[in-house]
Amino acid sequence: MKKEKISEAGCGIDYKVVMKKEKNSEAGCGIDYKVVRSGRKTMALQVRGDGVVVRAPYHVTDAEIEGFVSSHRKWILKHIDLMKEHAKQISEVTPLTYEDVQELANKAMEIIPERVRHYAALIGVTYGRITIRNQRTRWGSCSAKGNLNFNCLLMLAPPEVVDSVVVHELCHRKEMNHSERFYSEVLRVFPDYWKWTEWLKRNGPELMKRGEFDTDTIA
Ligand SMILES: [Zn+2]
Repeated sequence: MKKEKISEAGCGIDYKVVMKKEKNSEAGCGIDYKVVRSGRKTMALQVRGDGVVVRAPYHVTDAEIEGFVSSHRKWILKHIDLMKEHAKQISEVTPLTYEDVQELANKAMEIIPERVRHYAALIGVTYGRITIRNQRTRWGSCSAKGNLNFNCLLMLAPPEVVDSVVVHELCHRKEMNHSERFYSEVLRVFPDYWKWTEWLKRNGPELMKRGEFDTDTIA
């Protein structure tokens, strides 16, 4: 059993984190979980890639937490399975060949500048050069000079996702930050922004995985 004290970045709240193993279960099937105590009022469970987390108020006893975990055993095991399945799917995706990526880049060069033109007029901003890349971590970027970069793997996503990234980067021509003002401009021109951003958050890692090989600028 490990005890450690962590502090969540920036907010200065200390949590007491303790590693536990569920005792009242058949041999070998005990669920490992981490207990994070804080000023919250109720207990909550989370199954994450790095394990099971129980969030609990300070006043709850270890036995109560153990009971909470045991009573949600089925739910936890189901979610661990789903998690494993998802991880397996990601590791099984077929990587794109160099030619595939070239093709996506050509397609992106046909589609993206037109979308940029369209939305730049709506937002009322100018922009510089448009570059298409095969990046591992970013979908788009906007430099201080207004040069725009877009990831060619966006061509594997629905067109609305492409628009959401284009609008995001172009709105940085007005606001070089992610402030409330920035997002209100994003939502003004693209009201479905959060829906498609969520899509990209969910499916993006898999797309990035497919494009993973050593190239950078390709168009
Ligand atoms: Zn941004």
